[in-house]
Amino acid sequence: MSSNSIQTVGIIGSGTMGNGIAQACATSGIRVVMVDIAQAALDKGLATIAGSLDRLIKKEKMTAEAKAQALSLIKASTNYDDLKGAQLVIEAATENEPLKIKILQQLDALLAPEVIVATNTSSISITKLAAATKRADRFIGMHFFNPVPMMALVEIIRGLQTSDATHATVKALAEALGKTPITVKNAPGFVVNRILVPMINEAFFVLAEGLATPEDIDAGMKLGTNQPIGPLALADMIGLDVCLAVMNVYVEEYNDSKYRPAPLLKEMVAAGWLGRKTGRGVYTY
Ligand code: NAD
Repeated sequence: MSSNSIQTVGIIGSGTMGNGIAQACATSGIRVVMVDIAQAALDKGLATIAGSLDRLIKKEKMTAEAKAQALSLIKASTNYDDLKGAQLVIEAATENEPLKIKILQQLDALLAPEVIVATNTSSISITKLAAATKRADRFIGMHFFNPVPMMALVEIIRGLQTSDATHATVKALAEALGKTPITVKNAPGFVVNRILVPMINEAFFVLAEGLATPEDIDAGMKLGTNQPIGPLALADMIGLDVCLAVMNVYVEEYNDSKYRPAPLLKEMVAAGWLGRKTGRGVYTY
């Protein structure tokens, strides 16, 4: 199957990532069937897409006609049967392994054998999820970044079982969406989070050692390495609890003490200072 044979993409989940992926597909002229369990989630997802396209119109990056055209390509449904006819389905439901396995088995029973299934998981093994399906060679990771319409990167993660043909089709699809794909072998954190989260963790060690103020640590990394945001401000955005959970996965999976979470990070999570979402993290909001 080549990328131009992908005319309809199925998306499971209409949350933060699902609706972003739907928007990226529809604005690239690809039909979308977006499925969620709750009608309210679909309505919210569609409203998010409409709002995002309105902002593009305001910035004169899109016309009202193009918006109408994109929205007309998206079908939102609570019925998995509507996925029949999609050539590729991207699973972007809640990050929960038993839930994802249940969804993948549901898709197996529903979709024709040649249909490719991709998952947007951030942390679950692609190889393990593939093994739970009957299409392990046609299963792959397609890890988009938030916010999807703005972020150019897609990590394409090959499980041990992923075929070359599946990889080629998915890579071409990512390019058709205007994204830049990188190809990664399956391993905890893939590439970006494997490097990013330990960097954030190190910033907490530096902070705890009193080497510099939070503001100076962030200014140093912004100006010294050309990042748009410093690691401590980024931790507040991601959630300190999420950063800690990721480090704990690395400790467990790689069994290497270099991934030990910074005691200050653990302490702040224990205090409930999780970042922006709780009004206080490294900074106060
Ligand atoms: P979210 O909570 O915003 O959305 C998840 C959606 O899945 C919800 O609307 C929920 O109703 C729906 N859902 C739950 N069970 C379902 C089912 N059985 N069938 C259909 N829909 C179902 O979550 P999100 O942030 O969009 O994350 C989705 C996936 O993307 C996760 O695997 C996450 O790890 C990954 N991811 C998230 C980010 C991020 O920054 N948020 C970045 C990259 C990858």
